[in-house]
Amino acid sequence: MKVIASLLFLFISVGMFAQQTYLHCGKLIDTEKGKVLKNKTIVVEGNKIVAIENGFKTPGTNDIVVDLKSKTVMPGLMDMHIHIEGETNPGRYLEPFTLNEADVAFKSAEIAERTLMAGFTTVRDLGGSGVNVSLRNAINKGTVRGPRVFTAEKALGTTGGHADPTNGRNRKLIGDPGPKEGVVNGVDDARKAVRQRYKNGADWIKITATGGVLSVAKSGQNPQFTEEEILAITTTAREYGMQVAAHAHGDEGMQRAVRNGVKTIEHGTLMSEKTMELMKEHDAYYVPTITAGKFVAEKAKIKGYYPAIIVPKALEIGPKIQNTFAKAYKSGVAIAFGTDAGVFPHGQNGREFGFMVEGGMPAMETIQSATVTNAQLLGVEVSLGQLKAGFLADIVATDDDPTKNINTMESISFVMKDGVIYKQ
Ligand SMILES: [Zn+2]
Repeated sequence: MKVIASLLFLFISVGMFAQQTYLHCGKLIDTEKGKVLKNKTIVVEGNKIVAIENGFKTPGTNDIVVDLKSKTVMPGLMDMHIHIEGETNPGRYLEPFTLNEADVAFKSAEIAERTLMAGFTTVRDLGGSGVNVSLRNAINKGTVRGPRVFTAEKALGTTGGHADPTNGRNRKLIGDPGPKEGVVNGVDDARKAVRQRYKNGADWIKITATGGVLSVAKSGQNPQFTEEEILAITTTAREYGMQVAAHAHGDEGMQRAVRNGVKTIEHGTLMSEKTMELMKEHDAYYVPTITAGKFVAEKAKIKGYYPAIIVPKALEIGPKIQNTFAKAYKSGVAIAFGTDAGVFPHGQNGREFGFMVEGGMPAMETIQSATVTNAQLLGVEVSLGQLKAGFLADIVATDDDPTKNINTMESISFVMKDGVIYKQ
């Protein structure tokens, strides 16, 4: 009885004196209109923005003021392509044999916090082992500090394909991976693999529609799924409320993916003009990952950094992505900001902005890509991606105005997620 009474008292007092946070913003980016506004106050209560006011408003005695008058404030950033469970290093290919699930889990918790501190309050994780699902749940419960995670759990590939987890291994160790392990051959496998991801707690489905750079396999670009398999995956995914992302470097694999209902093309390296038209026709998004391309091309020059079979692929594919991005942007393909962090160190996701500007996209549009566009892609455009009353309080800030100095996106100096300040 006493407990109930005190809980009731607490409830009433919180209701009566709900504490608000007043963010005094020197500059504020309106991502919907693509404008930089001056001298605004964002009022946050609980995990939501309750008002955006003109000028610097004086708060009540109970409230908190955060001085961001010298900063540029914008919605929390969203990266549509990361791998939150791990990170590149020359010993990476031994890790499946040496690390236990708990090792991966502790590492991923550290990565999650680093990603959040870099200003990325929402991420789409495009493939790991299943630890990613547990990590998402732990973040949602508040056990681990990290971004909102939408995860594909384990990526799907075909036998010997980019997401076959046993490529390059001793034949005695490879077994016969199937839909449970994310390896599909034929439409029945395809359906089963998607249903297994649903059962395991995935939010998205990721397929590797073509060869890839970092798998221990010869081709970095051949098509690796039949159209029937892709169609079985996309239709099953929709039945379970999920969309499909496709890793693709080669053009034929991309076209098969887009024609059969894939929502995003990742990397898109050898994308033809025909494919760009096809993407516009099908409302597909392009997630460029320029940073990863540049990183692998650079590291491939260091002897022994990658296994020998990977080096020529990295040197050929890596440097081409930025140019493809430039063409796709010009032709009007929808660009969803995404980096492939994990292929390069997590927390450096902000480098992508500068590379996109180099590729011809105005700075404001790169920020819109990482906010409003990505919110739309994830289907959360009514609660994320803008600074607006009623939206979730995911708010970040830079020291400089990124429309004048885009590199300031690499050093985010203020982070709030769900109304909680993580960096100031
Ligand atoms: Zn990736």
